[in-house]
Amino acid sequence: MFDYETQRIIAAPEVAERERRLELLRARVAGRIVSETDEGWDTARQAWNLAAAQRPPLVAFPETTDDVVELVAFARGHGLRVAPQGTGHGAAPLGTIEDALLLKPSRMRDVEIDASRRRARVGAGATWGGVQRAAAAHGLAGLAGTSPEVGVVGYTLGGGLGWLARRHGLACNSVLAADLVTADGRLLHVDREHEPDLFWALRGGGGSFGIVTALEFALYPVRSLYAGVLSWPQERAAEILHAWKAWTAGIPDSVTSVGRLLNLPPVPEIPEGLRGRSFVVVEAACLVAEHDGIELLRPLRELGPEIDTFAMMSPTELGALHMDPADPTPAYVDGWLLGDLPPVAVDALVEAAGPGSGSPLLSVELRHLGGALAEPAPEHGALASLEAEFATATVSLVRNENEAALARHAAIVRSALAPWEAERNYPNFAERSFEVSDLFSPATCERLVRVKAQYDPGDLIRSTHPVPTA
Ligand SMILES: Cc1cc2nc3c(=O)[nH]c(=O)nc-3n(C[C@H](O)[C@H](O)[C@H](O)COP(=O)(O)OP(=O)(O)OC[C@H]3O[C@@H](n4cnc5c(N)ncnc54)[C@H](O)[C@@H]3O)c2cc1C
Repeated sequence: MFDYETQRIIAAPEVAERERRLELLRARVAGRIVSETDEGWDTARQAWNLAAAQRPPLVAFPETTDDVVELVAFARGHGLRVAPQGTGHGAAPLGTIEDALLLKPSRMRDVEIDASRRRARVGAGATWGGVQRAAAAHGLAGLAGTSPEVGVVGYTLGGGLGWLARRHGLACNSVLAADLVTADGRLLHVDREHEPDLFWALRGGGGSFGIVTALEFALYPVRSLYAGVLSWPQERAAEILHAWKAWTAGIPDSVTSVGRLLNLPPVPEIPEGLRGRSFVVVEAACLVAEHDGIELLRPLRELGPEIDTFAMMSPTELGALHMDPADPTPAYVDGWLLGDLPPVAVDALVEAAGPGSGSPLLSVELRHLGGALAEPAPEHGALASLEAEFATATVSLVRNENEAALARHAAIVRSALAPWEAERNYPNFAERSFEVSDLFSPATCERLVRVKAQYDPGDLIRSTHPVPTA
């Protein structure tokens, strides 16, 4: 048998010793522990992103904070690192993690809403769909992104760019407190008064500092909002994207919108009539009453969309707007920030990914930033703001035969937009493992490294965009 811990073939007595150690761990932990020889191993080690090949030596599904403390101690005592993973939406940059216990807190998904104080407290395994449903019962909403299946903790530690972002900023800067198990096994409650440097680092600096077991964050009063999708045949890509870009220049920060090129695959899940077709699309969420929304949308509606789904809706319905796949999917994603988007950049994008480009990419999108995202939030964390006008992402579904073509075309799109690329990447959209210096200013990097060295000097915690200890 191959032993991942030692990276060598082990003999029968050693296998028996390994099993004995695992039995001792299982006796101390309420959650499930799965190793290579157990039934369900392949499902257990799998991430939401099926394109990520994860080969950890062990996978654990803790049910309580005590379980997390035990698992961290076990890993430390057996020469393993610990890689926390809420859902695996961000698994691509993590690599194969052959040196780490994969810790999946998917059973720790409690959601408590304190409606009078407008705050939520959620377990490490909570996803945005659950939070938004619970919050909506009180006329409140959190700063969720486009997919209700994405994990609240991973999303928030990496920034959190959602449908209400131009009004309320990045989700990380609405965090009020966190509970966290450190590499040396302490359970800390972290907020402005307690462990303030760690509290700062967690808010946008990623998952390098410990295992977050619970997160508390602000909710905002949103009973309903005007939101939806406008779609035109992709032959009109240049006209529509230019018009959308011009429209974004004059809209208030109550509106967060996306312009995108969509190539729908010819699969039965997509309704006939749309299946296999290509569109240019504008999606938007507007924190306004219906008559104001209609007025705001008028210039785009005058362009005669083929499909128009705009209506007043509950914030829970925003989860369907962007049509992100719910089930585990082999996804190839690349995302980055654009300092600006002049008309020549729109032309470059359409040439690289629009009609006649032969693009095999499912989606190429531009998210409008600015508003509250542009200004450092008061008392912000490590990711204070996004210094860019637009975020962009290319997304595709990987099948064996098309991976190379997808990577090639995604690179074509990225290089077409290279002249306008912002100085730094946005952690949540950076789908390869980046150095912290690619994500943060030098002063922020220095402070993150200091916090890492203080709370995890042995580099036990394995995260997506690792902060080094020195
Ligand atoms: C379909 C899709 C839609 C998306 N939409 C958006 C969007 O609208 N806006 C946006 O900003 N991003 C978006 N993203 C990116 C997403 O926010 C990141 O991939 C994020 O890391 C996902 O968090 P997760 O917990 O679901 O993923 P995971 O892969 O489970 O976690 C990612 C990383 O977060 C850290 N982490 C997770 N849980 C813990 C924990 N308990 N303690 C410590 N560290 C932890 C770890 O470093 C982990 O590797 C999207 C991604 C996908 C695939």
